[in-house]
Amino acid sequence: MDFELSAEQQMYQRAVHDFCDGELRPYATQVDETGELRWDAIRRMPALGLTGLQVPEAYGGAELDSISAAIAIEELGWACGSTAISLAAHNGLCCVPITNWGTDAQKQRYLRTLTSGTVLGSLALTEPGAGSDLAGGVQTSAVRDGDSWVINGNKAWITNPKFAPVIVVLVRLDKEAGTRGFGMLLVEPGTPGLTIHPPEKKMGLKGSPTQMLTFEDVRVPADALLGEVGRGFHQTMQTLDGGRISIGALSIGLAQAAFEEAVKYAQQRRAFGKPISEHQAIQWMLADAAVEIEAARMLVYKAAWMKDAGKDFGKMAAMGKLKATEVAEKVCHNSIQIHGSYGYSREFPVERIYRDQRLMSIGEGTSEIQRLVIARHVLREMAAI
Ligand SMILES: Cc1cc2nc3c(=O)[nH]c(=O)nc-3n(C[C@H](O)[C@H](O)[C@H](O)COP(=O)(O)OP(=O)(O)OC[C@H]3O[C@@H](n4cnc5c(N)ncnc54)[C@H](O)[C@@H]3O)c2cc1C
Repeated sequence: MDFELSAEQQMYQRAVHDFCDGELRPYATQVDETGELRWDAIRRMPALGLTGLQVPEAYGGAELDSISAAIAIEELGWACGSTAISLAAHNGLCCVPITNWGTDAQKQRYLRTLTSGTVLGSLALTEPGAGSDLAGGVQTSAVRDGDSWVINGNKAWITNPKFAPVIVVLVRLDKEAGTRGFGMLLVEPGTPGLTIHPPEKKMGLKGSPTQMLTFEDVRVPADALLGEVGRGFHQTMQTLDGGRISIGALSIGLAQAAFEEAVKYAQQRRAFGKPISEHQAIQWMLADAAVEIEAARMLVYKAAWMKDAGKDFGKMAAMGKLKATEVAEKVCHNSIQIHGSYGYSREFPVERIYRDQRLMSIGEGTSEIQRLVIARHVLREMAAI
């Protein structure tokens, strides 16, 4: 891939960067400490397309290409991990499936609200007993009763439900049909029988609510089905392939932020008569970080480019996510190391960024699952030679 961002992509990157620098980055510590997102900033996001990155313009979105969408999430991650994960889930996990598989009526009903900057959408796949193994583990079921679906079960670790006008819910429609027995249902909070539990107390990403949901005879109309009966698992896997580009981009943003903090600190802090940036051990950490961040960025952008080119991008998305999340872990670790004791203090942003990045190698498919996905592709490709 001969790679250069287009003039439009570069302009968009600058605009989003400036917005994030002014409206999110200065408040990231406050978001972490209060556990509240900065809605003043989110309400202004539609002007930059951030609340409808890949939603068609007809429904209030920005209809961006996938590299621009990745750049937007990267910049959000650079500024504030909590805001970035909530916006990544909103865009990639809620707006995308509704855009891809929604009927015109479903799109009319939800996408305009979702892109308005007043709400954030949600996707509920994970359950208390099912994360990596959704196919084998999902218990939440929906049965047809006249003109309704009746849902029972529990979902766990779901981002944004307290802000959502609609939650996309993965359910089992036919217990005997394996991966062909799933569906996605559009469930509105406030529907009788749906309980949205208080946010979990987490290590990081504290401004982004992660909640458990209980469904007790939750009745939704038949036309709340998103896509086709039996296609829910396939739709989930496709959604997660795109979501992995997003989590990869977010991880690069977090790594970039920690790296910039480390460079700044290393030039100010003196030890043994000179700035620590003049000690070779520190320079090596900075050099490795610069190389690794760029390598991860190229993988993630390549996956985004392949997606738009209509190529099979699943392997590249998994490679990008795996690399970017592991780079974020390493770069944030070393950025704290470069800060010494000050890195362990809440006074410096690297402490928060380190906690925020920890989720990235778990959510939307753990690193172990990414390796399984990559290995499956590699083995298939080699067998075909
Ligand atoms: C902050 C946060 C936000 C989240 N947001 C959402 C959301 O919006 N929507 C949603 O649906 N979910 C969400 N999740 C859930 C997240 O996607 C899952 O937690 C994740 O997929 C892992 O599932 P699990 O926790 O059940 O781990 P498990 O599947 O129980 O895995 C436990 C460990 O076993 C390993 N493992 C499992 N199977 C294998 C295997 N075959 N080979 C090797 N190792 C294996 C895993 O890699 C992991 O290390 C969120 C989680 C968090 C913490």
